[in-house]
Amino acid sequence: MRSIVWFRGKDLRVADHGPLAEAVAGGEVIPLFVLDPYFFAPERARELPHRMQFLLDALSSLEANLTHLGSRLLVVPGRSVDVVPRLAHQWRADQVLAHRWVEPFGRVRDRRIAEALDQEGVAFRLFEGETMLPPGSVRTGQGGMFRVFTPFGRACAARLPADPPLAAPRALPPLPSDVTADTVPVPDPAVLGLEANPRLQVGGERAARARLAAFLDGPLAGYGRDRDRMDLPGTSRLSADLKFGTLSVRQVWQAVSDQGGPGAGPFLNELLWREFSHHLLWEWPELLERPFRPAFGGFPWREDAAGFEAWAEGRTGYPVVDAAARQLKAEGFVHNRARMVAASFLTKHLLLDWRLGEAHYLRWLTDGDWAQNNAGWQWSAGCGCDAQPWFRIFNPVAQGRKFDPDGAYVRRWVPELADCPAAFLHEPWKAPRALRGRLDYPEPIVDHALARARFLATAKAHLAQA
Ligand SMILES: Cc1cc2nc3c(=O)[nH]c(=O)nc-3n(C[C@H](O)[C@H](O)[C@H](O)COP(=O)(O)OP(=O)(O)OC[C@H]3O[C@@H](n4cnc5c(N)ncnc54)[C@H](O)[C@@H]3O)c2cc1C
Repeated sequence: MRSIVWFRGKDLRVADHGPLAEAVAGGEVIPLFVLDPYFFAPERARELPHRMQFLLDALSSLEANLTHLGSRLLVVPGRSVDVVPRLAHQWRADQVLAHRWVEPFGRVRDRRIAEALDQEGVAFRLFEGETMLPPGSVRTGQGGMFRVFTPFGRACAARLPADPPLAAPRALPPLPSDVTADTVPVPDPAVLGLEANPRLQVGGERAARARLAAFLDGPLAGYGRDRDRMDLPGTSRLSADLKFGTLSVRQVWQAVSDQGGPGAGPFLNELLWREFSHHLLWEWPELLERPFRPAFGGFPWREDAAGFEAWAEGRTGYPVVDAAARQLKAEGFVHNRARMVAASFLTKHLLLDWRLGEAHYLRWLTDGDWAQNNAGWQWSAGCGCDAQPWFRIFNPVAQGRKFDPDGAYVRRWVPELADCPAAFLHEPWKAPRALRGRLDYPEPIVDHALARARFLATAKAHLAQA
């Protein structure tokens, strides 16, 4: 049996890799990565600078791991819908094995490739692995998808752990000698026009394992207590590893369950939120375009290019919101609490369309993931899948005081406020005039109470006639 193992950017690992394990058991193995211009054309790559840097790191690491095991990663440029069927034919492969993607455009791509391979008489087999349970397989008593997280999480937890993670193969067969292709090296970021950002996490299986080990040894125990604190390293920072599959979610679930302790339950619950967002997008692919709550369709979002720019550049005058914006651009990451505050501010204080924020985050986040980002934005805007009512509006000052009590998060990312006394740090406009003059920090672009009232009135009027 000759198998092409098609690595597709969300499974950049050799451990717990179902397609690779299956191919090894079957005989000849051809590891393939396609540099599709959809992502890798320089103008496209430059739109995703952080994700691309992490992905290229992870790809180089995968290439080294496959070589170490005795094989070789073939990196071939071209559109995957053309390249995969062509190479399957040329290499006389019996099957192409890959992990399933939940995104609608990935599903369309896979349907087209399945049809093309079928004409060649080549099997195309998709494996689960992006999620712990197959998307679409967790159903309510009536057979539908859950619309609320808590019962979904309970239904998942009852079926977990799924099968244990697979070990990495001890060795791989060498590439068959007749297999040749116009391969290229893993692109250098500079060739794609990307400037290396040293503040980003390093991608790759080894770096991912080290992050997991550090989390198990450190923040996990206090995760339930510290996870919301923006000023503490209280979370795992594994989101990009899960996004690019340098760790499988099953590996993380198992490692944390085995370790146990008071932080394990709250952490595993977050992995269930991840699961939920992927199952939602599988069920309703249209969520990438439309609100989960249909009543929010046609919502009268404002047009305000200057307001959006102030939000995106970190110049709103609200310190936590600005810290989030600057952290995002600087290191491709934002603490979850800060994401929620920033997203609530854009959609509710500024009354701007959540899709603007969603696209901006997808551009700059290293962990930018269609399913999770969409769910996070819709949830924050009030139009998403949330047991809470739509009219919850985060108060950025109260959130700052509670989750950044000494202001370390704000001071780090908004250096203009580094010397601001803690009493005024989250509302510097209340500082004495003389101090304000020295701070060189903008006045708030909207008043919290007025903005809150505006959102509530607008939403109430819209929902009343929806
Ligand atoms: C507006 C907004 C946009 C977001 N966009 C993304 C995104 O593009 N990619 C992304 O991975 N997460 C996204 N999240 C969820 C969350 O903010 C990040 O997963 C988390 O901050 C990553 O940090 P961590 O790995 O240290 O998380 P931890 O607290 O250590 O959590 C462990 C893992 O659980 C998952 N997770 C945690 N919180 C959530 C959540 N609320 N929803 C879904 N999964 C979760 C992540 O995979 C995370 O790595 C978004 C949240 C919001 C509010």
